[in-house]
Amino acid sequence: MEKSWEILEGACLSCKKCRLWEMRTNVVIGKGNRNADIMFIGEGPGQQEDLTGVPFVGPAGQLLDKMLASVGLSTENAYICNIVKCRPPGNRDPHEDEIQSCINYLRYQLAMIHPKIIVCLGRIAATTILSPDFKITKEHGIWVERKGYWITATFHPSALLRDESKKRPAWEDLQAIRRKLDELQNTETE
Ligand code: SF4
Repeated sequence: MEKSWEILEGACLSCKKCRLWEMRTNVVIGKGNRNADIMFIGEGPGQQEDLTGVPFVGPAGQLLDKMLASVGLSTENAYICNIVKCRPPGNRDPHEDEIQSCINYLRYQLAMIHPKIIVCLGRIAATTILSPDFKITKEHGIWVERKGYWITATFHPSALLRDESKKRPAWEDLQAIRRKLDELQNTETE
C-alpha cells in the first residue's frame, strides 16, 4: 500500500486506539525534515506539546534544540517525534498497551523517512525500540545496526534538566552521533 503523510495525519488525528485520546488537546505527530538522515524519538508529548501539537517545544525541547545546534543539527536536517502521539496525563510514562496501540504510526513514519540513524531519547524510547531491558544509564551511546538503521540511545533532555551530571555524557553521545552521521553520509557519496 502506498504510504503518505496525509494518510498518517488523518489516522492519527482521528485515532481513539488507546485511552490517551480522551485527554488530548492535540495529536503530536512530529516535526522536522521528512527526508532527514537522522530521526530523534522521545517518549510522548508533554503539556506544551499537547497545547501546540508540536513535539519538543517546552523546556526540554529548548534544551534539545540547543544541543542539536551545537553539532549542526536542527529541524532543517533532522526529524523529531515520540513513541506515543498523545500526552499521557501528568507526564506519566506511557503504558505498554498505549505504546503498542501507537507503535504502528511510528513504524509508518520510519518507513516514509527511512533515516540512516535513529536516536532514542530516554528509557521509554530505548526499551521500546532497542530492547525491553535496555539500561539507559549503562548502555547509552552504544550502536546497534538493525534492518538497515543505525540505532543508539541517549538521555532524554528532561532527564538532563533534572540531573546536570548527565549533560556531559549526553553531549559526548551527541558528538558521536554527529560523527556517525558524517561517516554514513560520506560513505554514501564515495
Ligand atoms: S496515543 Fe497513539 S494510539 Fe493512543 S489515541 Fe493517541 S494516536 Fe491513538
